[in-house]
Amino acid sequence: MDSASDWAAKVEGKNCPFDMPRTGISSSLVPVHKMSISTLFLERIQTYRGHCVLIFDSRHVTRIDELESEEWRLLSEDILNAEKALIEVLRPDHINIASLGLVVPHLHWHLIPRYIGDPRWGGPIWTTAPDEMEKVYLPEVEYVTLAGKIRSELVGADS
Ligand SMILES: [Zn+2]
Repeated sequence: MDSASDWAAKVEGKNCPFDMPRTGISSSLVPVHKMSISTLFLERIQTYRGHCVLIFDSRHVTRIDELESEEWRLLSEDILNAEKALIEVLRPDHINIASLGLVVPHLHWHLIPRYIGDPRWGGPIWTTAPDEMEKVYLPEVEYVTLAGKIRSELVGADS
């Protein structure tokens, strides 16, 4: 649990793991593609196959009200393009797009493909503390393969 001062320091960007150069996030996130104003990563926890995180690149911001309107336009486009790629590659039954920022308050979006019968179908995936959640990890090669498929879809959509 954060104290008010812990939280204030995180919001200001102290030791923010999502600020460049983002050393130290490779244990939890696999790079997929550099988008216009953000970077798409594949979550290592793949309980929801294709779960990605899109992180705003330009600087440390916590909320969308801190963005310039052009930044928001570009970020919205990145979210939309990432969502389309995930729909194309994973063919989920639904997709959740969420910005919480309670653990790392640097603006980022979770794109979570949802499948009928998944462990939290019918509700949000975060109904318990992260430590209590079911965790599915993939063999290393599968991260590379899945990231490659999503990247191909994104690059194909660009051209
Ligand atoms: Zn940051």
